[in-house]
Amino acid sequence: MKSYRKELWFNTPTRVAFINITSQVEECVRESGIQEGLVLVNPMHITSSVFINDDEPGLHHDFANWLEKLAPHEPIQQYRHNDTGEDNADAHIKRQIMGREVVVAITGGRLDLGRWEQIFYGEFDGQRRKRVLVKIIGE
Ligand code: ZN
Repeated sequence: MKSYRKELWFNTPTRVAFINITSQVEECVRESGIQEGLVLVNPMHITSSVFINDDEPGLHHDFANWLEKLAPHEPIQQYRHNDTGEDNADAHIKRQIMGREVVVAITGGRLDLGRWEQIFYGEFDGQRRKRVLVKIIGE
């Protein structure tokens, strides 16, 4: 069995952002040379997500609005986590809703995704350097 590991780095200009990372994950699969296997993609942070959904800007706007209703950033004093001096309790909650990681099958050396499935990095406490782990196993 072969294995491959890479870190992808992101620094979003806004606090909340969604980035389509499908082509970067595909590039990792090509680099790995693995034809049949699994790829795991997860942020190495607790205030961002990796998830699969549609690459449609209206939907991303809807995600952002829905998350802000569930866990508004302000007032920051409403969260006990922010008693620590941090201001990112909402980002921890948003990440929990959107999930930590995705696992995608590799078939014939390619991501075996459904017609509309795309892989996204979801940032909820951006404007700093953060990384995503890509781990591939197979043969
Ligand atoms: Zn925190």
